[in-house]
Amino acid sequence: MGIRLGCIADDFTGATDLANNLVRAGMRVVQLIDVPPPGADRPVDADAVVIALKSRTVPAADAVDASLRALAWLRSAGAEQIYFKYCSTFDSTPAGNIGPVTEALMDALGTDFTIATPAFPDNGRTVFKGHLFVGDVLLSESGMRHHPLTPMTDPNLVSVLGAQTTRAVGLLDHTVVGRDAEAVRARVDELRERGVGIAIADAVSNDDLVRLGAAVRGMPLVTAGSGLAIGLPANWGFTPSHAAAQLPPPGGHRAVISGSVSAATNRQVQEFLRTGRPAFSVDPLRVSAGEDVSGRALAFAEARLADGPVLFYSTGAPEAVRTVQSRLGAAEAGELVERTLARVAEGLVERGVRQLVVAGGETSGAVVRALGITGLRIGPQIDPGVPWCAAALPGGDTLHITLKSGNFGGPGFFTDSFALLDREVS
Ligand code: ADP
Repeated sequence: MGIRLGCIADDFTGATDLANNLVRAGMRVVQLIDVPPPGADRPVDADAVVIALKSRTVPAADAVDASLRALAWLRSAGAEQIYFKYCSTFDSTPAGNIGPVTEALMDALGTDFTIATPAFPDNGRTVFKGHLFVGDVLLSESGMRHHPLTPMTDPNLVSVLGAQTTRAVGLLDHTVVGRDAEAVRARVDELRERGVGIAIADAVSNDDLVRLGAAVRGMPLVTAGSGLAIGLPANWGFTPSHAAAQLPPPGGHRAVISGSVSAATNRQVQEFLRTGRPAFSVDPLRVSAGEDVSGRALAFAEARLADGPVLFYSTGAPEAVRTVQSRLGAAEAGELVERTLARVAEGLVERGVRQLVVAGGETSGAVVRALGITGLRIGPQIDPGVPWCAAALPGGDTLHITLKSGNFGGPGFFTDSFALLDREVS
């Protein structure tokens, strides 16, 4: 059986979130980091492939370009339906990128209609009468109002999207989404006749998303946050199963790399230290002073990996991070830390680490690049939105890895994750 669903995600952690939802609904999923270069294609054994781009805030023309390359790859791999995934807060500006990318994908697929819904009720994102709510407040009253790159000041997605596209934008409102798939399909036909190209779809519950999912069966393109994923796999007969999240058995040593400075990660580092397990602090000021910090970190690892997990962390309290940033500059400090932790990750894998927890979105990107990882098979969920994955290392070995962005996970995440791997996969 080939690929059924081909997904294009506009950022990395969003891609994982989508992949995780698809796995939980019964599909076997591989996440690719960017579009494979020509000639590097290997057949992918999965029901759905999610290609993770970095196209959310780049210029619209670049986002369109990358999305069309992803589309071409997915179509040549046999995808029957395309899912364009964006943020559940509809992060975009009048210049894009949701509108321009949607339109380009519609043109390339030769389709005159698609839906758009960032709804994800499990995460507090609901859409009613075309208006997006974040928790109990309208999008425009949420923190998104002050987002540095994509401030969202209008909660009416029909007008937000309308400003980004030449297609007419309409509404699939809750009176039909709340009824049944038949009613949704009939409304889609009406909208289409009226010349609507993209319909914002209301959804305030998982049941709405399931009905919506059934109604868009066979639609060449759907666009959504990760929520719609709970309603699509059933269209091909997939049902939730343990088998969808199956990974090869884990081996090798265990380590944790933490470059996130968020509150949740700080708690996780404190909890790990409290249990007395081995941990090495990566100090940006020492790195900047020219010390071989990654070398010392790896020397520390040598004797301890056999009794792992061993933690390597730059994570610090906000005041400590601010001090570093004021001395080195925030961007420079970030880059220095990312480079050092990526080098530690490489060294750990050379020393036999085959189970790795990484904390921090940017840190994850740096580690994945350094290790030459191009794809992840998505496995069981550790915490909402955070699955274990299996990746092929360039040498052919399998690395079990989980990439946790800042604020995810409970205090025991750094040890609970390995316990889950033992339980679920071994
Ligand atoms: P999160 O997902 O929590 O935002 P990221 O890895 O995306 O985590 O971002 C954290 C950023 O902070 C990275 O660029 C990282 O290199 C940087 N950083 C980590 N530790 C420190 C530190 N002690 N001082 C200054 N910057 C740091």
